[in-house]
Amino acid sequence: MTVQRFLEPRSLAEAVQLGTEDPSGAKLIAGGTALTIMMLQGFVMPDTLVSLGRIDDAGFRSISVTEGRVRIGGGVTLTDVAVAPEVAANLPSLAYACAVVGNTRVRNVATLGGNLAEADYASDPPSVLISLGATVEILGPDGQRTLPVGDLITGFYETALPDGAVITAIDVPVTPDRVSVYEKFRTRSSEDRPCVGVAASATFAGRALDDLEVVIGAVAATPQRDPALGDRVRGAELDDALARSVAAEYRRDIEPMDDARGSAWYRSRMIEVLVRRSLRALADARDAEVDA
Ligand SMILES: Cc1cc2nc3c(=O)[nH]c(=O)nc-3n(C[C@H](O)[C@H](O)[C@H](O)COP(=O)(O)OP(=O)(O)OC[C@H]3O[C@@H](n4cnc5c(N)ncnc54)[C@H](O)[C@@H]3O)c2cc1C
Repeated sequence: MTVQRFLEPRSLAEAVQLGTEDPSGAKLIAGGTALTIMMLQGFVMPDTLVSLGRIDDAGFRSISVTEGRVRIGGGVTLTDVAVAPEVAANLPSLAYACAVVGNTRVRNVATLGGNLAEADYASDPPSVLISLGATVEILGPDGQRTLPVGDLITGFYETALPDGAVITAIDVPVTPDRVSVYEKFRTRSSEDRPCVGVAASATFAGRALDDLEVVIGAVAATPQRDPALGDRVRGAELDDALARSVAAEYRRDIEPMDDARGSAWYRSRMIEVLVRRSLRALADARDAEVDA
């Protein structure tokens, strides 16, 4: 089947309406970097494409900082996230994760909403957004709702998005003094998707941990985390011994997959290495603040 119609709605509401009129035949398209490959490979064969390229709703293609949150429109490109001063100042791990996606040509058109909706396990931004407690705003046939990014991605290329629903924005809380890092490990080329991605963020009271979040991407269908980690380490000092024990726990508890980027055995060991490295980076950032 070839594409019969290419529709260019001007509003998000119209896009949802067009996308839900024919849920089996219509597909939203933003940057097209993922969808066109899936179409060329025959994985999806929409007869109608509903483009998000001409939406002019306020905020869909812009970034703003309000009430302790950074709001990134679902149609903002990864390049624009990577270079935005508001993101660099408040969410440096997200700026970095977007800056190391694929290559310049991809980042210049690929959108953050499209990256999340694609739900490819070997992606960079989702684990970082989960480590920062981000939520997505969704506009669907039943109206608007908000969902944690961790609940949006439900499996291999599967999301909790209703048919035709649009990710209108990504909201990331800005916690004063939170430090965050992202470690991307590639095995095939400098432009490749991650073999393992580790996103970590923490807040401290002096040298002691107040909160800690570690999320592993690209090793299983969905990003992996230990939801009890923050409570367990609260009040402890983030030193080398703690970094080693958290890293060993993540290696023990995560069952990684095999794929062309690495075997399960290899990934398992790299999870331990990268978690330890991420936690050392958080401790260095803490020391720089405490000693300043
Ligand atoms: C060569 C190459 C290298 C890559 N390397 C990396 C990498 O290193 N790391 C990484 O994380 N990713 C990587 N990617 C994936 C890339 O990040 C995604 O393809 C891109 O972010 C998808 O965004 P898009 O706007 O192009 O989405 P599209 O291709 O337009 O759409 C993707 C899917 O999302 C849906 N969709 C799009 N926008 C929305 C929205 N706002 N709301 C709801 N549904 C929507 C579409 O219907 C479709 O199902 C790479 C891709 C390529 C081609």
